[in-house]
Amino acid sequence: MIKTVIAGPCSVESREQLRQVTAALAAMPQVKLIRAGVWKPRTRPGGFEGLGEPALQWMQELAQEFGVQYCCEVAKPKHVELCIRYGIVTVWIGARTSGNPFMVEELCSALAGSGMTVMVKNPTSPDVSLWLGAIERVLQAGVAGVGAVHRGFAMYHNQGYRNAPLWEVPMTLRREMPEIPLLCDPSHIGGRRDLVAQLANTAAQFDYDGLMVEVHPDPESALTDAPQQLTPAAFTDLLSSLSPVASHLSPVTSQQLIPLRRQIDEIDHELLSLLARRMEMSRQISFIKRDLQMPVYQSGRWADVVADRMEQAAALGLDADFTRALLEKIHGESIRVQLADKA
Ligand code: PEP
Ligand code: MN
Repeated sequence: MIKTVIAGPCSVESREQLRQVTAALAAMPQVKLIRAGVWKPRTRPGGFEGLGEPALQWMQELAQEFGVQYCCEVAKPKHVELCIRYGIVTVWIGARTSGNPFMVEELCSALAGSGMTVMVKNPTSPDVSLWLGAIERVLQAGVAGVGAVHRGFAMYHNQGYRNAPLWEVPMTLRREMPEIPLLCDPSHIGGRRDLVAQLANTAAQFDYDGLMVEVHPDPESALTDAPQQLTPAAFTDLLSSLSPVASHLSPVTSQQLIPLRRQIDEIDHELLSLLARRMEMSRQISFIKRDLQMPVYQSGRWADVVADRMEQAAALGLDADFTRALLEKIHGESIRVQLADKA
């Protein structure tokens, strides 16, 4: 269930900008923490790189005035030191840092014993071990709290998003570390205002524990990430668009699922038996190919198989991308089995 809502500008740009957005967010009871970038990791040099220490000073003053708490990204031990000096008790490790174990180690030395809460964004590559490793290092450092933030992955084919969501990666992280709260950052996944609310709703359906959303008083004029930041009004709409998720189901309600789940179990068992039979056929074919001195991979036959199955899938109403991915997975395994028999 979405319990932790963090919102705020990509970057602190001026005292007035921070004040305006803070006033708007302080009036939203769901917002637990205000995010505001102080040091900005830019992909290419020359852009706005954040205001540094003066921004922290404004954050300290406005935290007092509005009774709010801020959080920001830290990428160097010096950043941690400055955050501590200005009373910031929650920080995050950004996507460009979390994939670098040397930097994570250095940050952890600075964070150890600081009493801070640390959120770890996923590294830019979809390597769940790297993400888990960064979280493990932070846990070992002994901090007050640890969370994970899913902000999507830099892929060549990014599925129309700024960063491909690849929801299965954070789900693997959650399976490995069920006790770590998992937040979604739909702003950096979407990269476009019009995608943010829909992604936040998807995150709610994956049962995330929280959201981190970029909100700016005047997004069009933002110095960083202008296309993806929401106005406070659009963010209010996003919050009210989140469909309610029950914290627990009554036994009577969940009874309705039992017969359907039983059928799904049976179907899965049938699917696996069929796949085992199919692999056995591949194995038998591999012996014949060997005798005939045929290569294992037969591109003409594979093209025919794909065309035939895609047609069947379309008639059955199955999604084309899903069907193609499934066929490729099955064919990949068939090739592996045949190559193993050749070895
Ligand atoms: C940010 O939160 O503004 C940011 C730079 O995030 P990420 O590390 O996910 O790119
Ligand atoms: Mn940003």
